[in-house]
Amino acid sequence: MSSTGALSQVGIIRPLMSGLNLAQQEAVNYMHGPCLVLAGAGSGKTRVITHKVARLIQSGMEPRRIAAITFTNKAAAEMRERAKSLVGREAKEVVICTFHALGVRMMRQDGAALGLKPQFSILDTDDVTSILKDAGGTTDAATARQWQWAISTWKNQGLNAAQAEAQARDDNERVTARIMARYEERLTAYQSVDFDDLIGLPLKLLRDHADVREKWQQGLGHVLVDEYQDTNATQYELLKLLVGERGRITAVGDDDQSIYGWRGATLDNLRKLPQDYPTLKVVKLEQNYRSTSAILRAANNVIQPNPKLFPKTLFSELGEGEPVRIVDCDNEEHEAERIVARIQSIRANGMGKDWKDFAVLYRANHQARVFEQALRKAQIPYKVSGGQSFFDRAEIRDLCAWLRLWVNNDDDPAFLRSVTTPKRGIGHQTLQALGTFASKYKLSLFEALFSSSLGSVLPARTVGSLHEFGRYVNDLEFRARHTTGAEDARAFLGDWLKDIGYEKHLYDSEDNEKLAASRWTNVMEFCDWMAQRCGGQIDDTAGVTLASEKKNLLEVAQTISLLSTISEREQDQNVVTLSTLHASKGLEWPHVVLAGCVEGLLPFKPEDEAGKIVDESVVQRLQEERRLMYVGITRAQRSLAVSWSRKRKKGREMVAAMPSRFIAEMALDKSTVKEDPREKLKALRAEFAARKAAAQPAT
Ligand code: ATP
Ligand code: MG
Repeated sequence: MSSTGALSQVGIIRPLMSGLNLAQQEAVNYMHGPCLVLAGAGSGKTRVITHKVARLIQSGMEPRRIAAITFTNKAAAEMRERAKSLVGREAKEVVICTFHALGVRMMRQDGAALGLKPQFSILDTDDVTSILKDAGGTTDAATARQWQWAISTWKNQGLNAAQAEAQARDDNERVTARIMARYEERLTAYQSVDFDDLIGLPLKLLRDHADVREKWQQGLGHVLVDEYQDTNATQYELLKLLVGERGRITAVGDDDQSIYGWRGATLDNLRKLPQDYPTLKVVKLEQNYRSTSAILRAANNVIQPNPKLFPKTLFSELGEGEPVRIVDCDNEEHEAERIVARIQSIRANGMGKDWKDFAVLYRANHQARVFEQALRKAQIPYKVSGGQSFFDRAEIRDLCAWLRLWVNNDDDPAFLRSVTTPKRGIGHQTLQALGTFASKYKLSLFEALFSSSLGSVLPARTVGSLHEFGRYVNDLEFRARHTTGAEDARAFLGDWLKDIGYEKHLYDSEDNEKLAASRWTNVMEFCDWMAQRCGGQIDDTAGVTLASEKKNLLEVAQTISLLSTISEREQDQNVVTLSTLHASKGLEWPHVVLAGCVEGLLPFKPEDEAGKIVDESVVQRLQEERRLMYVGITRAQRSLAVSWSRKRKKGREMVAAMPSRFIAEMALDKSTVKEDPREKLKALRAEFAARKAAAQPAT
């Protein structure tokens, strides 16, 4: 009996359909052609995807022939869990991942057709900035980031360096296009790709190689895409080639939640779908299962002024619920204080049990700091999501690159980062020659370094420096393997940092001494974190449970590459979430505060200095900001507060602030209550104290 037969025998179809309304069932059961689910927030679009994965398996499709594409790794992890609870272990084989992860998969399998070795490396933004600094001959990170932005835009439009130069509108663009050419040369030499390549190269692969295209189209039985409104033009083309003529695709999305226009996402992808797939079945979902009517009404009112691509109405049967609160404050510290008081008061009166029931959402990363301080002061646990994580910091990434290289000598970007951080006189030309040599002989940079014929392309002195580095890495690897216990590990790491002069490097490369000191503190913290794991004090690293015996440093270092999974585990923590609005997409919390709702932040600088709307692009930006507000409002299940302050920091100055126009657009009626949560908390505490006193036995 086939495993799918077994599944239908245990009768998954009934529970599968019982959690869906009729329209959702229709979308889930439509398996043989293209299907678009177009619906507002919280209407169960993501649920359709998860259930459809289960339904396809149940109908006999092999799990590995199903691909479900999500917007973030975290969303993929969550979807996998849900699919597992519906169909059991078989869900493990379904390809549930982001577009970028799918790109990695494709390039690992078939990238050789484009001259890429399977263990190619993926550069992150930091790596890209430093390669661009080198390619463009600057030390200024801001300039390099501007180039990065332009190059990324071109790549997303499917342009290579020569095409970008041909269509350049001014000298600046021409120069950037030439830098792009040098940047691409470096990437090829290093056998590395950047994030945009993870979409662009698979697209090129499918476009130019009919055999590979055929293989993928045959291999994939159905492709499902969540958050379809935020796909860009290259992703659309890639999807089209993946799906082929048969058009077995299910896309779910909401034009009102398109918030990545600034990164190239285009609603044209929604418009094109019915044209490119004439048999497209469109399903609309109208019921919102997430929010109370009060919250949903505010959301509908805010989005109302935007032009509609597809008209839709949303209703909720969860009752009117608590009115939406406006919290107005004197300044940002005051705002943070009041929001913390609100969280405490909701908890005190039993409306929210756990810290994880609360989220504070804001427009820009820097807004988190004041809330972090207030939460710390109140001893409330929290996490900042969508911001920079500890492991993303440049100094920690430097150290991780070294550790990765000890573990896996073939990790070329780790090699490049280690060999140049701190600088040891091995320059770009040497590395480029080494890279060309390595790819010619299909070797990793580290292997190439020890090749006996390297002397034919590099002078003996340079080869000597490379050998010295290689031997040092081998020596570190050997010592790390024999270092166990927290004390020894701490001593070993301390010696290594001294050897490579890392503290001096931090102070030399950072103008601001205070910043350098704080980076060095992070380094110390990281070493301590590693040492504790060597001592067996902490058993669990990035989802890998280590036995509680002492571990050697190399074994601990091996788990570092799994650290990206830490963020996926974070969601289980019982902590308040601080998040940017962009990072909150697709998620939900019982209690949400939208903070910093002032003009200039949300909407973010919509007009020119004179306060006039100047052109069409400004109008479009404002519409995107409105959608962002809509996304924020619709994250709330039971209660929503919107806060703003009369003064806000702009650079070093304090400036007067106006409430966001979106607050007025929410058209909250008289049921909107202006409250001071601190007063409410005081009253609750007094009541609690009185009750406690009354309960005390008389002495
Ligand atoms: P968003 O637009 O924010 O991504 P969405 O349309 O993807 O939202 P989901 O996250 O799938 O919506 O669903 C929102 C909430 O409603 C979830 O808690 C989900 O479990 C619940 N839900 C969805 N459909 C149903 C249903 N038919 N019956 C009960 N609850 C449902
Ligand atoms: Mg969703």
